[in-house]
Amino acid sequence: MQWSEPTRIDEQWAWADRGECQDVPDLFYNAEDEPKGLRRRKESAAKELCERCPVLAECRTHAMVNRELYGVWGGLTEGERHRLAGRLRTG
Ligand code: SF4
Repeated sequence: MQWSEPTRIDEQWAWADRGECQDVPDLFYNAEDEPKGLRRRKESAAKELCERCPVLAECRTHAMVNRELYGVWGGLTEGERHRLAGRLRTG
């Protein structure tokens, strides 16, 4: 088998392979009907993993630049990213 050159998309997502969340993706997303208590516990556990993640900065930048709508990215919940984006827009 011969390897081909990486595509631009592969390169853009290369950081994600080093994320602490690789083995527990369900922890980072919530179902719409998930109880609030469970949602908060999952978000808290996900954010703890993010704190020790070697690609936190890349992940957070990706989420903010690409306006990821769902889940915990770069140690920020959906609501936290939304509020941060609002503050950045208003200066
Ligand atoms: S910062 Fe959090 S969401 Fe991003 S790759 Fe790391 S563990 Fe996953």
